[in-house]
Amino acid sequence: MTDDIDRAQAREQQLRADALRDQARRAGLAGKTMADSAMDCQDCGNPIPPARRWAMPGCVRCVPCESAQERMKGRFL
Ligand SMILES: [Zn+2]
Repeated sequence: MTDDIDRAQAREQQLRADALRDQARRAGLAGKTMADSAMDCQDCGNPIPPARRWAMPGCVRCVPCESAQERMKGRFL
């Protein structure tokens, strides 16, 4: 019985890890770090806040420009 629960928990953790990795890959963030994030927005040139550069490794736009970009692509987050 305990073994079943242990296996179920291990399986769940594996699925969660896979899901997170897939999400990062889809977002094009796999293997990126804060150092890959741009200092300034490539669209408007405003500085990108460190918190965003840290939270979104590899980002190249500020939040408003990223939102506009995503609206143009037709996919809301
Ligand atoms: Zn911008």
